[in-house]
Amino acid sequence: MEGLAPVIGVTATLKEDTERVAERPLGRFVRADADYVEGVVEAGGVPVVLAPVAGPGAAETLVSGLDGLLLSGGSDLEPSHYGEEALPELGVTLPERDEFEIALARGALRRGIPIFGICRGMQLLNVVLGGTLYQDIPSQLGRGVLGHRQRTPKWQPAHEVEVLPGSLLGGIVGRGVVKVNSYHHQAVKELAPGLVVGARSPDGVIEAIESREPGERWVLGIQWHAEAMRAAGPEHRALFEAHVSAARRYAGRRAAA
Ligand code: MN
Repeated sequence: MEGLAPVIGVTATLKEDTERVAERPLGRFVRADADYVEGVVEAGGVPVVLAPVAGPGAAETLVSGLDGLLLSGGSDLEPSHYGEEALPELGVTLPERDEFEIALARGALRRGIPIFGICRGMQLLNVVLGGTLYQDIPSQLGRGVLGHRQRTPKWQPAHEVEVLPGSLLGGIVGRGVVKVNSYHHQAVKELAPGLVVGARSPDGVIEAIESREPGERWVLGIQWHAEAMRAAGPEHRALFEAHVSAARRYAGRRAAA
């Protein structure tokens, strides 16, 4: 079906809305930051928000209708998924969301669906493929590291990242240094087999990961929130465009099969 725009699944979170209507709290909502969804639309994809309440059992059905998967940011992953006990500094976790997204990522990997992971999404990719995480940068990596939890507006850069020459990321952003925002207290610890580092911050923290063979399996994870920096520079929009392009190629192969 030449010409149809690729369908990109965008993961969402669950959020309690305490606003009261008729004396009662509104309750739980499925929530996706519109920046991710708009980033997909601008890049020429058709976004579908994937609700965690569908459950891991729905993952196969959902991924069968996708050409691309965008794993969005959010809460910390349950450390049991990478074989660790929770440290006191671990943040809020949403086990229901973890189970759902791990199932989605596995299904997408099995089919060769291009995956773009942002922040938590990058960390989840690393864990699904067998890597581990620092549960808390300040307490585990000490004072020598940069501030990765900025208090300034989300479209403003907080630090630079050094992009590895020859990387998938480098080909997309077209430069060796990118100024990025930073809203994470966790980071990739042991890199999963099959992945390589795409960028690091000057303190050595891994800021991007990607598949060793992006031509065969397009997987890219970035630690910064590019969706919030789309107006700050073309290199941030280019990430969404590259993902949608990879999804279009996947859709073409799927149609031909
Ligand atoms: Mn950072």
